[in-house]
Amino acid sequence: MDTYVSPWMDDELVIFRDSIMKFVEAEMLPYDAAWRGQQHVGADIWRKAGAAGLLCTDVPAQFGGGGGDFRHEAILYAELGRRGLSGFGQGVHSICAQYLVNHGTDAQRRSFLPRMASGELIGAIGMTEPSAGSDLQGIKTRALRDGDDYVISGSKIFITNGYLAGLIALVVKTTPGEGAKGTSIILVETADLPGFRVGRILDKMGMKAQDTAELFFDEVRVPAANLLGGAEGQGFYQLMADLPYERALIAVSGVAAMEGGLAATIAYVKDRRAFGQSIAEFQNTKFKLAELATKTRVARVFVDDCIARIVAGTLDTVTASMAKYWVSDTQQEVLDECVQLHGGYGYMNEYLVCRLFADARVQRIYGGTNEIMKVLISRAL
Ligand SMILES: Cc1cc2nc3c(=O)[nH]c(=O)nc-3n(C[C@H](O)[C@H](O)[C@H](O)COP(=O)(O)OP(=O)(O)OC[C@H]3O[C@@H](n4cnc5c(N)ncnc54)[C@H](O)[C@@H]3O)c2cc1C
Repeated sequence: MDTYVSPWMDDELVIFRDSIMKFVEAEMLPYDAAWRGQQHVGADIWRKAGAAGLLCTDVPAQFGGGGGDFRHEAILYAELGRRGLSGFGQGVHSICAQYLVNHGTDAQRRSFLPRMASGELIGAIGMTEPSAGSDLQGIKTRALRDGDDYVISGSKIFITNGYLAGLIALVVKTTPGEGAKGTSIILVETADLPGFRVGRILDKMGMKAQDTAELFFDEVRVPAANLLGGAEGQGFYQLMADLPYERALIAVSGVAAMEGGLAATIAYVKDRRAFGQSIAEFQNTKFKLAELATKTRVARVFVDDCIARIVAGTLDTVTASMAKYWVSDTQQEVLDECVQLHGGYGYMNEYLVCRLFADARVQRIYGGTNEIMKVLISRAL
């Protein structure tokens, strides 16, 4: 039995985790298969999660948030991650909220954060375009000032929460032709917005309940007051400042998926029999499980250190990049072995390890590919 306890847990957080587990098991788990079928989780669960205090837990209470810190976010993300509930895009929602907390004007915070905390407004982040992903300076979506508005034209792809989002932190060029200096973030409220269109929900390898979508902007008018922070040309700086948070979230969900997959695999091999004995009795199974448990523990300790550093405000980009790259690579190795130990059942979607394995693949791609993580790490060496 694994007796490891994260050093940042305390009594209040244990109670918080228990309430999260109850909510997740009653309000999310029973609906996951239906959500995967329709490719999104629907708006209702966001309002329920908001009412239960699960959203924006690390946003100050004065803006409607939970007044907690990154540990609260990590607990929710982990409880979703270990159960393979990858449809509910709370991570992106929280990152969007952090942009507002850290860079928004007071009016922007007051306008958007309470509605994000209640689940009325679902957040998304629109960076990637069909011709620009890793090389973000190459984005083409433009926002040109016209009186009291910005007029936005362009398109985005692979946007998590894209179908359900009511608020998009949209990365645009306010000075086309300039690279980082010409980049800004505009807060786009999507309800009844002329010229804005959501394309199809994309058909992915995994994360089937996640509404990853294309977005189109055709001369969309947004009030100039929605420019994040109120000054043009700050977009890259704002994005960079919150990258450690985003990468730590990916690592948190990665280690949680390993823990969930490992627990399911241990239970499975004890139950499954072949050649007159349980699968768990084979020496290969014992050694594999020992390897997986060790890799999972190493990842957990690293991620716990990142969580503590975020709370202390000291998580640097290089360490966060190390966690994102190494945990997501290890996540896939571990879950591949979990599938193998399940035999043919591991390839069936009704088994948790199958869904966890398929979901894991994208962890090495989004949030900055693992190659880009290595570029960033190597620069600091
Ligand atoms: C399910 C999913 C959800 C996503 N959610 C969002 C979202 O919410 N918002 C958003 O804006 N984006 C999102 N993305 C987009 C994601 O962040 C990008 O796909 C990712 O950054 C890679 O960009 P790209 O797809 O254009 O690949 P490319 O940049 O074209 O990369 C292709 C390959 O080239 C490699 N490469 C590129 N540059 C270098 C280099 N300098 N050195 C070495 N190798 C390099 C890459 O590592 C990769 O292996 C999502 C993607 C997916 C699949």
